[in-house]
Amino acid sequence: MTLLDKALVRVLPVVPRQLVQLFSSRYIAGATIDAALETVRALNTDGKLATIDVLGEEAARESEAQAITQAYLDVLAAVERDGLDSSLSVKPTALGLHLSYSLCRENLEALVRDAARTGNFVRIDMEDATRTSETLRLYRELRESGFDNVGVVLQSYLRRTVDDVRALADLRPNVRLCKGIYVEPRSIAFTDYDAVRANFVRALDALLDAGAYVGVATHDEWLIGEALRRVKGMDALAYEFQMLLGVREKRATELVHEGHKLRVYVPYGEAWYEYSLRRLQENPAMAGTIAFSTVGRLLGRR
Ligand SMILES: Cc1cc2nc3c(=O)[nH]c(=O)nc-3n(C[C@H](O)[C@H](O)[C@H](O)COP(=O)(O)OP(=O)(O)OC[C@H]3O[C@@H](n4cnc5c(N)ncnc54)[C@H](O)[C@@H]3O)c2cc1C
Repeated sequence: MTLLDKALVRVLPVVPRQLVQLFSSRYIAGATIDAALETVRALNTDGKLATIDVLGEEAARESEAQAITQAYLDVLAAVERDGLDSSLSVKPTALGLHLSYSLCRENLEALVRDAARTGNFVRIDMEDATRTSETLRLYRELRESGFDNVGVVLQSYLRRTVDDVRALADLRPNVRLCKGIYVEPRSIAFTDYDAVRANFVRALDALLDAGAYVGVATHDEWLIGEALRRVKGMDALAYEFQMLLGVREKRATELVHEGHKLRVYVPYGEAWYEYSLRRLQENPAMAGTIAFSTVGRLLGRR
């Protein structure tokens, strides 16, 4: 990222919400469950699978955690009713992790249990590094309680990740592997672009050695190539690629046509603004367009 890009990313929070909404609409299915279902239907028609994220982070009260849990239960029911192919992606703090571990565990188990009933699957998203150990504990406890329709996420920017793969190996885990999106200190995370890539490949190798089911979640062409080389000759049901809604859609379609499973992360909900800021901060070119157009509007007003 150049200095200019960094500066633009910093001004994003003062950009008018409507403008952020305009530019980020490609990353978000919409504010309602119907918008999410519509998006999933279109993806399924294209041969793509989905995973639905009900937007909302850090429930501040138990009632908020219950409300998000209920929203996910409604998604499971709607996905089954409409015969769609979409799993769930859930954030532990949205289910109350920072309020209490047991509250989160209870809410998560309710989702995993209900998903099991309908043959569906729950992915536990990974948040910042202060949550990693508890999130892995949630995953282990659910698996040890007999649920196998649950998976977790590992982030290749964390130095601990290959050790985490080894620690999970006895479970033959189901893991989404991604680079990681939060800002973490150098003491615990690789910050160099190539080091994050190299650790992604190390973690991928360790996961495949452990017989894990891997969701390769990246838009990075170099990493997609490394993954393709490794899964060559493997049963196409034993792994999948994953991408975010609105990002590298053409490449996603190519992977489907080449016979790979491809899952798209579909966020929806009222909390679209915070999610949009994160996506735009990842993509400074888009952030730049927004910032320049805001400055243009402000100047135009004078
Ligand atoms: C399905 C899925 C689930 C995820 N779940 C988590 C999670 O649980 N926890 C977590 O910390 N992170 C998660 N992430 C985010 C991930 O950690 C990365 O931050 C994100 O995917 C960008 O990294 P990249 O591997 O695509 O590589 P990058 O090097 O960031 O991107 C490679 C190329 O992809 C394109 N690209 C990437 N992002 C965008 C964008 N927003 N808009 C337009 N083009 C873009 C650009 O061409 C870029 O050059 C998830 C990502 C995916 C795909």
